[in-house]
Parts: sequence; C-alpha cells; structure tokens
Amino acid sequence: MAWLVHHILAGKNSIYIVSWLAFQIIPTWFVSRTRLEVGNVVNDFINGDFSGTLLSILMIFVYAVLGPVISIIANFSREMIAQNMERDVRREFFHALLDKSQAFHDSQKVGDIMARSTEDVRSLNLLINPALSVLMEAALILLIPIVVIAFNYPPSLLILPLGFIISFIISIYFYYQKLSPIAKAQQRLYGNLNHHILEEITGMIVVKSSAREKEATGHYNGIADEYRALNIKMGKLQAKSKSVYLVLLLSTSCLVHAILLYYNGRLTVGDIVAYYSIVLTYQQAAHFSVWAFTAVSKASAGADRLLDLMNKETFIPRTTTHKRREISGDIEFKNVTFTYPDETRPALIDVSFKLNRNETLAIVGMTGSGKSTLIKLISRLHDVDGGIITIDGVDITRYDLDALRQHISVIEQDIFLFPDTIARNISLGRDYPMEGIKHAAVTAQANDFIQQLPMGYDTEIGDKGIQLSGGERQRIAIARAFLSDPRILVLDDSTSAIDAVTEEKIQRAIANVQKHRTTILITHRLSQVRWADAIILLQGGRVTATGTHEELMAKSRVYRNIFMSRFEGELDDVDTSGDA
Ligand code: ADP
Ligand code: MG
Repeated sequence: MAWLVHHILAGKNSIYIVSWLAFQIIPTWFVSRTRLEVGNVVNDFINGDFSGTLLSILMIFVYAVLGPVISIIANFSREMIAQNMERDVRREFFHALLDKSQAFHDSQKVGDIMARSTEDVRSLNLLINPALSVLMEAALILLIPIVVIAFNYPPSLLILPLGFIISFIISIYFYYQKLSPIAKAQQRLYGNLNHHILEEITGMIVVKSSAREKEATGHYNGIADEYRALNIKMGKLQAKSKSVYLVLLLSTSCLVHAILLYYNGRLTVGDIVAYYSIVLTYQQAAHFSVWAFTAVSKASAGADRLLDLMNKETFIPRTTTHKRREISGDIEFKNVTFTYPDETRPALIDVSFKLNRNETLAIVGMTGSGKSTLIKLISRLHDVDGGIITIDGVDITRYDLDALRQHISVIEQDIFLFPDTIARNISLGRDYPMEGIKHAAVTAQANDFIQQLPMGYDTEIGDKGIQLSGGERQRIAIARAFLSDPRILVLDDSTSAIDAVTEEKIQRAIANVQKHRTTILITHRLSQVRWADAIILLQGGRVTATGTHEELMAKSRVYRNIFMSRFEGELDDVDTSGDA
C-alpha cells in the first residue's frame, strides 16, 4: 500500500490531486443543494410565493448546468494521475526486470511475467480511475449531506444518517476482508493461464508431434474452470453485500422521523421532501462502494504481485570496492564449480584453464557437457559457486558489471534478431555511422547477401519483414561483434547444419574477427578447431583433456570419436587407448 501511495503522490501528481479533490467536492455539494432547493420549491409553492418558487427553480437549473462542467476538470485531473502512475509503474517494473540476473529469468515463467506487466499494471490504473475516485465520490456523497443537514435542519435529524455511515463502514470492512483473498487468487490464476498458453504455443510442435492435444486442453480447461469459479464467488459476494439494504432501511426510517418532526411543528412539507431525497443519495454511495472496493482489492493484489517480483533478491551484486573498467583479455578459470539454481547436479565441476590475451580457445564436448554454461559465467550471467574466474589476473566480480559485459561479445547458438532493419540490427540501436556498419558487414562476409536484399541495409527483418537463414544470421551477429570491438569474443556454435560455401564464408568471417582479441569458440568444425591455440574437452561438466588438436587426437579417445567421421583415413593407424 505504501508503494502505491508513493506512486500516486509522485512527481507532478500532487497538483492534479488538489484539483481533483477541489473539483470533485463542488458538484457533489451541488447535488445536495439541488435537493434543498426542491424542498424550497415545494414550500414556496404551497405558500403561494411565486417569485420564491421561480428563484429556486433557477438555482436548480444553475446547479444542473455547472455541476457537470466542473466534473470535467475533476475527471481530467483524475485521468492524469492514473495514466502517470501507470507509466511510472511500467518503467519501474521493466527496469527491475532488466536488473535481474539470468538466474532469476531462468526461474520465472514468462507468461506469468507478461501477465504481471500487463494485467497487474492495468489493475493499478483502474485503482485510480475509476476505483479510488468513485470511492472518493462515495465518501463525499456520504459526508456533504451531513454538513448540509447540520446547517439547515434540527440536529436530531443527523442521528440516523450518522448511524448509517458507521454501520456502512463496518459492513464494507467485512466485505473487503472476504474479498481480498479471492482477488489475490484471481490474479494468480490469471498469471497461470497466461503462462500455460505461452508454454503450449512455444511448444506447439511438441504438443502436436506427440499427440498431446488432449492433455494440453484438459489442463488448460482445469485452470479456466477454476478461474471462472473464483469470478462467480466474487459476484456472489458482491450480490450479498448488505449496504444496499441498509440504505433502504435508512431512508424509510428517516422519512418516518421527519414526519414525526412535522407533527411536532418543527419541519415543513418541503423540508420532508428535501431531507428524504438527500438521504436517498446514499443509495448511490452504497452502490458505488461495493463496486469500487472490488476494484481496490484487485489493484492491491496486483501491486502485491508486482512488488513481489521486483523485490526478489536475485540481483547480481553490482557494486564492488575496486571497480575495474579496462580489460586486456587474459582469462583464467581456477577450480570453478557451478550448479544452476534449483538443480542438484553441478553443471561445471572443478574447471581450470588458462587463456592468454589474443589467443583462441576451443571448447569441445557433447550436448549438456557444460560448454554454454562455462561461457555464461565469464560475462557473469551467473556467478560461480566455487573457485574463481579472473580476467587480467583480477577476480571478475571486481569489475564494473556494465564495463565487463561491454568488453565481451557473445555470439549465441540462437541468434536473436530484432524486428527492425538490418543496419539497426548490426548497430544494436547505437549511433554508428553507416560506413562503420558497412565495414563491419564486409569483414563479417555479410555485405554480399545484404546488398542483394530488396532494401539493402534498410530491409526490415522479422515478423513483418524477411526471414534470414542460420548462416546469414550468424554473419549479422559477427558484424555486430566487429562493430562493438570487444576484447573478448565468444562464439557458441555447436549446431552446425550449414552448407560448405556458407561454412567457408563464416570461417573467413571468424578468422577476421578473432584477430587481436581473445576468442573462445564452441564448435565442432574441424576448420576452426585446428587453428585454436588450445582446446579443452568437457565431459559431464569436467575438463577431461586439454591440448592442441594434434595432441588431443593422439591422446583422447573421446576427442577422436568426435572428429572420427571427418578423419577416418588418418585414424586407421593411431593407437586407440587414450586416457580420456
Ligand atoms: P552444452 O552447452 O554443452 O550443451 P549446457 O552448458 O547448456 O551444455 O548445459 C550443461 C548442463 O546444465 C546440462 O545438464 C543442462 O541440462 C544444464 N542446464 C543448462 N542450462 C540450465 C538452466 N538454465 N537451468 C538448469 N539447468 C541447466
Ligand atoms: Mg550449448
């Protein structure tokens, strides 16, 4: 709640809050005034006071015209507060997401995050507009008549309305107590629904190829049913809310009370009419409140969920005492051990190796042996559990995180391209001159195919534009790496279904890009492994052999097996009793 209030009061909002309050009070006051004037009309009419009647009718007319006009300003202020707050919350939420470690993102359901950033933020907006403003209006509708009655009628007429307000607040309090657990469950289920849809869509090919449609549908229906049941429960609770009946009881009692006072000679007929109709406005307040409290409970459930996600303590610690920013490129792993969160089996065990600046290391190993994990640790997408990783002899946790990552370029297995132009995909949105981008593309062997695209460097890729092949994507990624000119370059490329011509081009691109920088290659391409300064063989998270290609071919059976098919002729006369 405090976080919500902080956001409501943020920035320029305070001006809008004042104007909202001010301009909301006036129309509500007009409503009570109108009912008083109706009483006056009745009295003046009975007494035959023609000009008095006319004056009162004129006043009613003025209130009817001015009220809605003033409401417009109130509505505008309210809208500004709500929209400002929604924007601020979205920003804060997005920043929080970017700040999280990869470990956090690994552990989150994407669908659920999507639900939080859309539905939950939306429900916060609804909290202001209209929920809180309706509540405010309801409060004014309750309080202003009290003031009007106090100034115009005998004090005893205050007793019933005041009694009503107290019992009304009590009944709303209990209503809210019952409502808020339902609202919480509702938002949580909505997150689940989203997560489920997303999972089935991304895994659609698996669902279809394993004929799992039935199970998928069954599971989804289960969640949807549960969600429906909660909505019905909420509707029932709303319907059972007592406050509306309380108002009927109140208005009838007030009428009786007023008539009694009339017989005592303390009220006129007009007074009875006016008093009764003022009390009747309470009906509106009761109606509003039930609805508004439902929205408030949803919003506060939404806020809880957002905060819950934002406050999860999975930040990679950014601040260190010695923030180093410069990197030359000597890398060393000393007895590094790492286990993914929520896993029991370590992904890397006691890994040690050394790589000098400007040299190339190749990592070879079966799927799941820990190759990708190893390189994730260098750019601190995760932090090691045991051992230490140094760059230029300094623990990587002592580098400024942003600087560290700027000096390391990783070309992933799945190259992600943004739905944007080729040029902007190479520059990653930063401001580079066009010649620079072109030069990078030429060196990355990408210029030829880019020139052949309909719009050249301005061709859109992705959903709305053209699709690129795996080899083309890879060269775009290499061009990216050129442009950012990192000290350390990492290529994660274990899948390699590429034709010979493309392979040759990529090989040349990589040879260009790895000059003058430390390079780590994950690859099973002989053409690349051959020229590496050192190769490490990973098996089940352990380094089981190191050396140059020739050394490993001679001493490691597993390594030989990996390259056997490409090397059959030469292998025939080699002793197969390796040590790994
Ligand atoms: P490789 O790149 O050599 O195929 P990885 O480094 O991707 O291997 O994976 C090493 C091991 O860690 C595997 O057992 C894999 O299942 C596990 N693993 C990889 N990524 C994650 C993750 N995000 N969460 C949990 N376990 C993971
Ligand atoms: Mg991998």
